[in-house]
Amino acid sequence: MRIVIELEEPSVRRCEWATLSKSPLMIQYHDKEWGVPVHDDMVLFEFLTLEGAQAGLTWQTALNKRENYRRALHDFDPAKIARYKNRDIKRLLGDPGIIRNRLKIEATITNAKQFLTARKEFGSFDKYVWQFVGGRPIKHKFASLGQIPPITRESDSMSKELRERGFRFVGPTICYAFMQAVGMVNDHTTKCFRYGTIWRKTQIVRPFQKTGSVARSTPENL
Ligand SMILES: [Zn+2]
Repeated sequence: MRIVIELEEPSVRRCEWATLSKSPLMIQYHDKEWGVPVHDDMVLFEFLTLEGAQAGLTWQTALNKRENYRRALHDFDPAKIARYKNRDIKRLLGDPGIIRNRLKIEATITNAKQFLTARKEFGSFDKYVWQFVGGRPIKHKFASLGQIPPITRESDSMSKELRERGFRFVGPTICYAFMQAVGMVNDHTTKCFRYGTIWRKTQIVRPFQKTGSVARSTPENL
């Protein structure tokens, strides 16, 4: 109910992708989660999985299926998923609640194994993945959706590293969407009420270096 009230309140300004979605779930996700720094390994794996699952689709598709994924994937527990066998792949391929794509399902299992390897090596996946932004969120200053890049130097590095480790469905665009989601970068637009309300103490402010592309990266078009 609170969300409905906010939707009707003209003084609440949000990132365009959230407003345009007209989806209470998307708006709640934008208002409560998107861009908030995540340091919990299980949650990081959840986002890595969902961002990979939505490749070629929309973030809203993946978000709508999130609870089904939690149920189907043992609450995104990588230790359990890493042990999945052929019968689990068959079960997942038959589950209409999730995105039934064999490559994506197999990638989830592969990624769970690589996740555990990285966690063992670095002490936590959190420590491993946050190194790509130097351990602290990067704060951008984009005024509108069209200014948000699809990839950055940091997401390129992350993608390259993860691929070398054997992760799949971790292209630079997916990695950048992941970075935005888990708060490694603050891409709320400057007019959004969430811009500046979080990360005050920790983020680095620096100008964005263009990569040459004019496409954008948001949950709407990834
Ligand atoms: Zn926003």
